[in-house]
Amino acid sequence: MQALEDILREAETAIHSAADLKALDLLRVHYLGKKGLLTEYLKTLGQLPPEERPAAGQKINSAKQAVQTAIDNRSIDLQQAQIENQLASETIDVTLPGRNTGMGSIHPVSKTFADLRQIFGDMGFIFMEGPEIEEDFYNFTALNVPPLHPARAMQDTFYFANGLVLRSQMSPVQIHAMKKLQPPLRMVAMGRVYRRDFDLTHTPMFHQIECLMVDENVTFADLKGLLHQFLHKFFNKKTAIRFRPSYFPFTEPSAEVDIGCINCEGKGCRICKNTGWLEVLGCGMVHPNVLNGVGIDSERYRGFAFGAGIDRLTMLKYGITDLRSLFENDLRFLKQF
Ligand SMILES: [Zn+2]
Repeated sequence: MQALEDILREAETAIHSAADLKALDLLRVHYLGKKGLLTEYLKTLGQLPPEERPAAGQKINSAKQAVQTAIDNRSIDLQQAQIENQLASETIDVTLPGRNTGMGSIHPVSKTFADLRQIFGDMGFIFMEGPEIEEDFYNFTALNVPPLHPARAMQDTFYFANGLVLRSQMSPVQIHAMKKLQPPLRMVAMGRVYRRDFDLTHTPMFHQIECLMVDENVTFADLKGLLHQFLHKFFNKKTAIRFRPSYFPFTEPSAEVDIGCINCEGKGCRICKNTGWLEVLGCGMVHPNVLNGVGIDSERYRGFAFGAGIDRLTMLKYGITDLRSLFENDLRFLKQF
């Protein structure tokens, strides 16, 4: 039985210095497995005289028990060490400064949309929408521009083969509005319009706002009052405003409106081409032909309308000199807003 003592001591030393759970399991197989040393030892019992067998059996079993206990204890130690290693290697330093995730910014044109919505919403105007692909009737004829009228050449329009057009102005929405709603009517339409133009100040798609008011006793003075209020609010400045006589087929009389240059305040600079003035919009009293065409009695009702480029308003407000930069989606540009 001397050998058994040796095996036990050797096993305990090996188990105690097992480096990890895998090595420990190999030791378990080596001593306690089906062909393990102690199991083999148990098989030799049969060779002993019967009276010695119980005592020898007891000794072997308590040796097995001792090895099992040693393995269990080492296993707990190793598992604990493994958890501690994992915690140490996966530690997060909560004192490190955070990494910045890039925050988007609101596109300047979207900002202008929001500003306009606020200004005209506060004044009690309703907002209406219409299709971007329009019938010729709504884009031209109903606006007092019948086929072959020379004013059609004022806008380079995109035509479809079937006679439809990409709307070249927001005015068609006014026609839809007047056909659908009875005066008194105060409406604003904002959206995309299309023309065959591309240079420093023109893009084939741009944004327009058009505003229409129809009621009894509406006058040009009301239009002037509204535009003063709108432009001062939008540019956040009491800028000078002037009206120049002009021509549009759908308004009579018509005017173009300039504001004192935002950049130089009238002294003259590159942006206003040294005139001190910036053109911002076109306007006028709705032509009686337009009112009659949509079934509104032009003897009883009058209206005024104006239209402005939303991109141009944006450029003037933020001092942007190239219209195309609004559509290039260059983050270096957009992040400035
Ligand atoms: Zn200027």
